[in-house]
Amino acid sequence: AKKQGKNRYYWFEAPMENELRFRNKLEAGIRAGIANGEFVPYYEQQVDLETDQLVGFEMLARWESPELGVVGPDIFIPIAEEIGAIGELSENLIAQAFEDAKEWDPELTLSVNISPVQMRDPWFAQKILKLLVAHRFPPNRLDIEITETCLHENVGMVRSMITSLRNQGVHVSLDDFGTGYSSLSQLRSLPFDRLKIDRSFIGELRQQENGDALVNAIIAMSDGLKLPITAEGIENETILEALKRLGKMKGQGYHYGRPEPADKVRERLADHGLL
Ligand code: C2E
Ligand code: CA
Ligand code: CA
Ligand code: CA
Repeated sequence: AKKQGKNRYYWFEAPMENELRFRNKLEAGIRAGIANGEFVPYYEQQVDLETDQLVGFEMLARWESPELGVVGPDIFIPIAEEIGAIGELSENLIAQAFEDAKEWDPELTLSVNISPVQMRDPWFAQKILKLLVAHRFPPNRLDIEITETCLHENVGMVRSMITSLRNQGVHVSLDDFGTGYSSLSQLRSLPFDRLKIDRSFIGELRQQENGDALVNAIIAMSDGLKLPITAEGIENETILEALKRLGKMKGQGYHYGRPEPADKVRERLADHGLL
């Protein structure tokens, strides 16, 4: 630290240096982790709320770092995007997920999250199709989730991407619906298969009255677009029952359990005769 007059030191330089060092360490760790296969898919159940049946899983990336333990995607996805590693990371994870999901009951779907950075890659749809072929995974079991923020970019490019994926039988969902300020007309011009209502709205159902109204408005919007919906963030029975009263939909959330690694999912599916 610099000396400033008598016994007065800048104290803000040290933390900044530490942050930078930590950030550099994270970047290096992520690069090494990709090479060492430390990034693994976890899976969250998706359920048909009308029948209470398991319909599929959403893959959620985890970093099993030998140094840091299990790290969530909110930490490493933004860094992977910045250092240009998101494409490789995502393709590795999807490849693993295809291998995992191939062992499950073939009726079960697999949802994967795609970064806006990947949506800017003109070869993205080709890359997905190549993976599907390489792993012999049925395209109609795959659901690609793209977030509403993707639509702020080049809508024409997003539209042709969705179209080429759907032409191959892949499903495309709009994730975090309600958080991104897309207009109805913009949404109507894009050929999505499904909308996922963001969990920030679902959580509102705990505070009965106005929460209901908000989710109702979102459901009315999806009806207007003639798109089926998935509600995320179902944390308890109260929320589940409220949603069931609001209409037909799929759902997911901690109420059904936390996301789990492939071997745990396999065990549970075996117990239920779904392998
Ligand atoms: P998301 O797609 O909206 O996924 C839902 C997140 O909510 C997950 O967090 C999940 O674990 C969490 N969650 C599920 N049920 C509940 C619940 O009942 N209550 C609460 N409070 N949370 C719940 P996670 O796994 O930390 O993932 C965070 C975000 O990271 C995801 O949000 C997704 O946008 C992104 N992500 C995950 N995997 C990938 C990936 O492979 N690629 C990319 N680009 N993004 C990913
Ligand atoms: Ca998602
Ligand atoms: Ca969400
Ligand atoms: Ca999200």
